[in-house]
Amino acid sequence: MYDHFNRRINYLRISVTDRCNLRCRYCMPEHGVELLRHQDILSLEEIFEVAKVATDFGVDKVRLTGGEPLVRKGVTRLIKMLSQLEAINDLSLTTNATLLFQFAQPLVEAGLHRINISLDTINPEKYKEITRGGDISTVFLGIEAAQKAGLNPIKINCVVKNSSDEEDAVQISNFCRQHQLQVRFIHQMNLKTGEFSKVEGGSGGDCSHCNRIRLTANGKLKPCLFNDFEFDVRKLGAKEAFLKAVEFKPQNGTTNKHGHFYTIGG
Ligand code: SF4
Repeated sequence: MYDHFNRRINYLRISVTDRCNLRCRYCMPEHGVELLRHQDILSLEEIFEVAKVATDFGVDKVRLTGGEPLVRKGVTRLIKMLSQLEAINDLSLTTNATLLFQFAQPLVEAGLHRINISLDTINPEKYKEITRGGDISTVFLGIEAAQKAGLNPIKINCVVKNSSDEEDAVQISNFCRQHQLQVRFIHQMNLKTGEFSKVEGGSGGDCSHCNRIRLTANGKLKPCLFNDFEFDVRKLGAKEAFLKAVEFKPQNGTTNKHGHFYTIGG
């Protein structure tokens, strides 16, 4: 399906939870967040229904995000359900990888194609500082398990303050080269002020070629990350909400006054 700016919309990013087992400084407030009520979170079946409708309109690429998607109960079953949709030829997931050593093999068996891992430094102390207490050794175990399970490619999402020349970013580049991983640099974004830029090594943040729609954990279809428009799939139904999301997709992002990365999934 094409939007008003002749962009082909074929990519659905699905946030399956607002919960996370880390507290990254640029994403979550220290004391955590007011979590969505359980009944407000879409069930696996509701998520599947939205994805199925989206494939009817030409979506062939689906990514699961969060919060941290691996803390969502039944995430492997959801991957299995989505992998049954023949129209989807690219099924991926973005994770902080701290639980990946448990999930890598089952996710591959369920039909996951590839994975992105959030990692901003290889320095254990800095990692603990950025994530407010995370243990980087679990991430390294997760990467190993993902490679062993055959996930390919494995991309590292590295958040940088200003540039990929920063010390941690350079070390991440070297780490990725040594471990046959791909790297993408994401400049810190601010939804409220509308600060964002193109992802280095990826396609995000390139409004003129934007192909994505997002589904939030509580069932809102969002035409754009940097915009307040959202359409409720429970109120409108998946089909109507999807059509509205494409119809109201802006030419480019501006600001998002009410959203949060942990419910939209970046
Ligand atoms: S800001 Fe909006 S239009 Fe631009 S790339 Fe992001 S989602 Fe697409």
